[in-house]
Amino acid sequence: MHGLMQDWPLTVDKILDHAKNWHGDREIVSRSVEGPIVRSTYAEVHRRAKQLSNALKGLGVKPGDRVATLAWNTGRHIEAWYAIMGMGAICHTLNPRLFAEQLCYIINHAEDKIIFTDLTFLPILAEHRAEMPTVQKVVVFTDEAHLDPKIYPGAIAYETLVASGSPDFVWGDFDENTASSLCYTSGTTGNPKGVLYSHRSNFLHTLVTLGVDVMCLSARDTVLPVVPMFHANAWGLTFSCAAAGCKLVMPGQKLDGASVYELLETEGVTFSAAVPTVWLGLLNHMRENKLSLSTLKRVVIGGSAVPEAIVRGFRDEFGVDVTHAWGMTEMSPMGTLSSPNARIAALDAETQLKYKLKQGRPPIGVEIKLEDDANQRLPHDGHTFGRLMVKGPFIAGGYFKGDGGNILDEAGFFDTGDVATLDGDGYMQITDRAKDVIKSGGEWISTIEIENIAVGHEKAELAAVIGAAHPKWDERPVLLVKLMPGAQSSKEEFLAFLDGKIAKWWTPDDVVFVDDIPLGATGKIDKKLIRERMKGYVLPTAKAKETA
Ligand code: ADP
Repeated sequence: MHGLMQDWPLTVDKILDHAKNWHGDREIVSRSVEGPIVRSTYAEVHRRAKQLSNALKGLGVKPGDRVATLAWNTGRHIEAWYAIMGMGAICHTLNPRLFAEQLCYIINHAEDKIIFTDLTFLPILAEHRAEMPTVQKVVVFTDEAHLDPKIYPGAIAYETLVASGSPDFVWGDFDENTASSLCYTSGTTGNPKGVLYSHRSNFLHTLVTLGVDVMCLSARDTVLPVVPMFHANAWGLTFSCAAAGCKLVMPGQKLDGASVYELLETEGVTFSAAVPTVWLGLLNHMRENKLSLSTLKRVVIGGSAVPEAIVRGFRDEFGVDVTHAWGMTEMSPMGTLSSPNARIAALDAETQLKYKLKQGRPPIGVEIKLEDDANQRLPHDGHTFGRLMVKGPFIAGGYFKGDGGNILDEAGFFDTGDVATLDGDGYMQITDRAKDVIKSGGEWISTIEIENIAVGHEKAELAAVIGAAHPKWDERPVLLVKLMPGAQSSKEEFLAFLDGKIAKWWTPDDVVFVDDIPLGATGKIDKKLIRERMKGYVLPTAKAKETA
């Protein structure tokens, strides 16, 4: 027997309708790519997005067509995002930090028809124009005055396109399982693969992110999503802020400590989200300039593991609470968050910190399990490592165009490619990516744990651990350290710092000081590149063995 409730398809246009109806004058403030801070409101963004849907229809865009954006976080980008999805087309966010070759691959694979972009990326698109045969039009998020027609002949100024459309357009009115958006994983192994979200999956993800133990957003919050819309949908914030009626502050292309700090203070930001490297930049800027924060209360940090030094820095020096989060493009992206449960909330601050550093527990809508290589469930004892598998209504069931084949196990779980532990409270801790974990003498060593401790050394700016071949143990850890500008150190100093903080047999066999630790397109340490750079490297312990 079916229930007798109303049929109200969960489509994301309703999120912006809600923001317009009930928070219409709430501001969306952007640091524009042209320079000045520009102000808009949900009502205005809603009207202009409808105009844009009409204009796109005029350009021949039909439901199901892929319309891409290669752009920074701005109010215009939000307009395009809702205009594309509202009309039933698919908003494909492109990551400008990818190499041009990968971008072309993704654009061709998705068969993007139109690309919205910022002035910043127009030259790259122009250079590779011939390699993107499906792209019929490029629209630049600017006005005629700022658009030099010589850079990309035929490019359309966004403001002109918006002005050409009428504000009457009926959004939605289609099945909630209709595809809404597309985002490719950054393809650290093999080609990037497309995750195709539906209206329903995004709507449900939005409801979940609003929860108090998740993002805890309210109509009183002012939110600065530093995490880009092209990085796993800005972790859902472009939907959840509209759903909650938060004031939105969009940082544009300036994500350095000084620029982020300026917006936090001038706009009265209460909540923000970004990867750890962005926060390191902010913390360093505030320390160097002896600054404090007057309104920021909470930050969500994810994308890679949060070092203890960041959590302590925010808490002790700036009075900001950190929630550690884990997720992935395939999960829309929120998977787990480190919000305390009742037992942990009653512990003293130092003991609670241990749990804050874990990636946390799943909210409703995310099922997780831990298995070994033989698909046997592993205990939730906080020690046993295993493959982390996930299932839920906003988790990918397959990749776009069937890439990668069947990605689910018999019970419908997706293998995240992460190795983790689960403790008795249900707190998950990532120990590594399966391909990064170090296998030493048949046992596993977590590179993330060593990195996070090493980066807590006052002289370390960044730290990375990789496995190097060893004749007896298969692999042994090597710690690479990029020192703070002007700092001097030694292998012994870092090994002494790690002593007592990790198991003896996890102690790196070597410490190598490097000028650069490369970061990938989503701000994570690029271990693949590091391994390539370290190709000819031989462990001193392996050399000793050879000569012995
Ligand atoms: P990619 O970088 O491959 O495109 P995502 O940006 O979706 O993919 O990143 C997903 C991966 O990032 C996760 O599988 C995990 O390995 C890593 N990750 C995300 N958040 C965290 C975290 N808080 N701690 C450790 N690793 C994390």
